[in-house]
Amino acid sequence: MTKAQRHKAIIRRRIFLSVCAVILAAVILLIVFAVKAVMSGGEKDNASSDVSSIQSDNMSDVSSEQTSTPSYPATGPNGLDANYTKLLLVNGENPLPEDYDYEGNLTTIPDKYINGSLKQIDKDVWPYMQAMIEAAWADGVKLYVWSPYRSYSTQNMLFKKQVDCQIAKGVPADKAEDEAATVVARPGTSEHHTGLAADFNMADDKFETTEMYRWMQEHAADYGFIMRYSGEKQEITGVIHESWHYRFVGINAAKEMNRLNMCLEEYLEYLNKQ
Ligand SMILES: [Zn+2]
Repeated sequence: MTKAQRHKAIIRRRIFLSVCAVILAAVILLIVFAVKAVMSGGEKDNASSDVSSIQSDNMSDVSSEQTSTPSYPATGPNGLDANYTKLLLVNGENPLPEDYDYEGNLTTIPDKYINGSLKQIDKDVWPYMQAMIEAAWADGVKLYVWSPYRSYSTQNMLFKKQVDCQIAKGVPADKAEDEAATVVARPGTSEHHTGLAADFNMADDKFETTEMYRWMQEHAADYGFIMRYSGEKQEITGVIHESWHYRFVGINAAKEMNRLNMCLEEYLEYLNKQ
């Protein structure tokens, strides 16, 4: 090898070594960037999963607030079973059969609790109603049962009377029955057939101005009763605002329905989804 050849070989080796060094540096740089990118990506993922877990925590808080039932005591006033329920649905779409016989389950309300002519009520509901009336009396509030159980024929008579009343008001004859049905349930579709509901003191809007109404707003649920027809829910129940009509559903069920601001139709749908 000549001197010139040796010199060329040294230069080639230097070039080769510096190319290797550049490639190595580039590879190291790439690795550093790649590691950084992976790490920052991971952080982002963590951050977003934190956010979503916070969101899902919030969502589960909200839904559990709506769905989970608070724990209510199992015993109501006078040792009444607070978990006992009567959720039978009777309305325009869910009539009782014409030959529905409820008589076997009825009891007669003692006269001292009544200010009307009808006297029968579901025998299992009466202890709750009696306890409620006596509690009202103890508070100096003169609560009386006006209209409890009605037979099909009683309801038929009341409905026909209401149709005549609508016609007298000038409602066309072909619309009078529909109009009457928002005030008095068609025979077979009244809750009064079940023995689970009663009107108190008077079937009149004036009831809402009385101390009896104010007392019921505060205490009816403690005895298992709900104001069944609120004007706010008329589209669902199909019945006008009736401040005087109370329906037994059960103490804890009544408290739940009030807490959720649900009428019976809504509450049954809600229970079905549970
Ligand atoms: Zn009623």
